[in-house]
Order: sequence, then C-alpha cells, then structure tokens
Amino acid sequence: MPVPLLDVNAQNLPLESELTAAFTKVLREGKFIMGPEIGELEQQVATMVGAKHGIGVSSGTDALLLALMALGIGPGDEVLCPTFTFFATAGAVSRVGATPVFVDSCPVCFNVDVNAARKKITKHTKCIIPVHLFGQSADMDAVMALAKEHGLSVIEDGAQSIGANYKGKGTGTIGDFGTYSFFPSKNLGGFGDGGMVVCNDDALAERARILRTHGSKPKYYHHFVGGNFRIDTLQAALILVKLRRYADYTRLRRENAARYTAELSKLPGVVVADVAEGRCAANNEAALAAKGAKIVLPAAYPHNDHIWNQYTLRIVGDGKRDEFKNFLGTKKIGCEIYYPVTMDQQKCFADLPEAARSSCEVAHRLAGEAISIPIYPELPRAHQDEVIAAIAGFVS
Ligand SMILES: *Cc1c(COP(=O)(O)O)cnc(C)c1O
Repeated sequence: MPVPLLDVNAQNLPLESELTAAFTKVLREGKFIMGPEIGELEQQVATMVGAKHGIGVSSGTDALLLALMALGIGPGDEVLCPTFTFFATAGAVSRVGATPVFVDSCPVCFNVDVNAARKKITKHTKCIIPVHLFGQSADMDAVMALAKEHGLSVIEDGAQSIGANYKGKGTGTIGDFGTYSFFPSKNLGGFGDGGMVVCNDDALAERARILRTHGSKPKYYHHFVGGNFRIDTLQAALILVKLRRYADYTRLRRENAARYTAELSKLPGVVVADVAEGRCAANNEAALAAKGAKIVLPAAYPHNDHIWNQYTLRIVGDGKRDEFKNFLGTKKIGCEIYYPVTMDQQKCFADLPEAARSSCEVAHRLAGEAISIPIYPELPRAHQDEVIAAIAGFVS
C-alpha cells in the first residue's frame, strides 16, 4: 500500500461543511480584501504564540521580505542566515538588496550554529535570521546575546515552527519579528499561499502594516515604498477553521514522532541524536561513529517544545541516504530531502563574496544525509508501521 509523505485531504475533508460555511460567509460579505476575518486570524495567532501584534500576509516568503523592509535592511547590509534552510530565507535578503551571509549548522538540531555566526560578523552585519527548522527552535538565548552584543536585529523564520516554544516562549516572539507560513505542508496549512508576521513593538508593527499595502496610510498617501503583501480574506476565514484544531494537530504530530523514536531506536545501528548537553554540539561525529550509527533519529532539546513539521533522519555514510531514498521508493513510501543543496552552493549565490559562502561543512554533510519521513497528524497507524518495517529492513 502506498504511504504518502503528506495527505492534506485527511485533515481538510472532515472539515468540509465548516470550511464551506466559512467560504459562504465571506462570499456573502463580499469583503475579499482586508475583510474582518483577517483581523480575527491575526489576533488569534498572536494570542496563541504570545505576540502583541499579528500582521497577515501573502506568504511566509513575503513575511520575511516585509520584516526586512520594516527594519530598513538594504544595499550594503549583511544578514546572517543559516545555509541549511529553505531558499526563501536567503532569497528575501537578496531581494531587499542586502547580502546574505551563510552560516553553518548544528548537526544535532539542524539549526544555525551561533558560534559559527559570530565568526562571520563584520561592520556591515545588521541582522540575523535564525530558522526554526523542522519545528524545533534555534538556540535563541545565544542568538539574542550575539544580536545584543553587535546591535543586530533578529527576524525569526518560524515558517515551520508556529506554536513551537523555546524555554516556554513562542518561536517568533523572541526577536524583533517572527514570520510564519500557511503553505499547505506547514503545520497550520492553508488552502494556497498565506503567512503572518508577528511583532511586540508597536512602531515596528505599524510600519509593517503600512508596508503591507504599498506603504500607504491613508490610501493613496505613501510614506515609503511597500508592496501588496496582503493575505486574502477567504484564506484567513478558512485558516480560522483549522486554527481551532491546531492543538490537536500538534499533539498528533508529537505522538507520531514519539512512536517513531520508540520503535526505530530499538533497531541495530539506529541512534537518537544526542541532546543530553541541552545545547548545540560543535561536532558529534566521533561519538556517532563509536556507536556504529547508521541512522540518527531527530530529538528535541529539553527546553524546546518541538512541533515536528518534519521528522528528519540522518542516514550516515557516503551515498547511503540516496540508497535509503531509493529503497523507500521501491516500497512506495513517501519521503523528501529537505534540503539537498545548501544556500552557499546555489548557483544564484555563486557571485557572493567568498566570506559569505565559506565554512559550511556541517551543513554540506547534512544536505547529503537528511531525509524526512511521513509525520503528518492523520498518518494512519498502519502506514507508520510500514515505514518502521521498511527502515528495519534497510538496517538489517
Ligand atoms: C516554507 C518556508 C518559507 C516560505 O513560506 P511560503 O509560505 O512558502 O512562502 C520560508 N522559510 C522556511 C524555513 C520555510 O520552510
């Protein structure tokens, strides 16, 4: 039986009558641009994550762009961002005319290595964008300390981490801005593109709100050059229906993750990532080799509430990950490589200064080892059993 990586219908179709009612309400109101559901979604998401302001936008990508614009980041500025991330993080930096400076990753949690970030600071560095990859927070105490020391602004890319916590605080609410995505594969998946910016500073939030609509307030009076970064009323109305279930979705993802870890860690050569120290490890390769690890399972630091946007394995050894991917393919088990190419290796960034692209060795290794398996909330037990059985077959 085929096991898909994600089945959006399993979550959406049971809500069909409520979604249809939400659609009908917006249809009859006729306020398709900036209708009342947008304010409702903004307020509810902000409350859920613990932020003062929410600003609904057209995508997680535009959320990043808007945050950079609101902070006045532009040509001549350097912005630190992890090299092992989705393209949007780096792309947004380039789009405002600034230079993305790529930083290596922690091999345990996949997030930005803050010590490596420190080494890349210059007098032009203005901002750092930690990404909370796969649903687990980056080391925010270290990020904030570095930012304070060097006067940097902080934008948290929380596209994969809406509702995840770091030491009890919502990811996205710790820096100057946090950004979220409602892309269908994200934890709060919408019905097309959408996103949100959150912020605790009144003046910055107001600036972002104005920039969202061409920098105008009132209409036709432009303070700065903004864009059209609005979320649709319809999109907001539909996402509100799913937001009411969000705690359940997260609980189910956590149960699936716990079950994978419990079952897979019994297999020979399968070890759990070492989070015992509670902080990002510089290099644990020797320890992994000593344990004879073939597969490393993901784990959460004790201070993090992980929301498991992805359950990402490391398949150790040259060419082993691709072998594993092919093996799952023959069993019709869905999987995806997030991400096969780091940002420093992208063709579009080949002209960046050498210093922006150097020292990303851990991330290069992760790009060769990482692979994500099905973890979505409605993943049927029988499907999960098939995934586990397949992995048992691979390591035996
Ligand atoms: C998905 C994602 C984005 C972009 O979100 P979109 O809504 O698809 O534009 C940005 N950063 C990260 C880390 C993502 O995973």
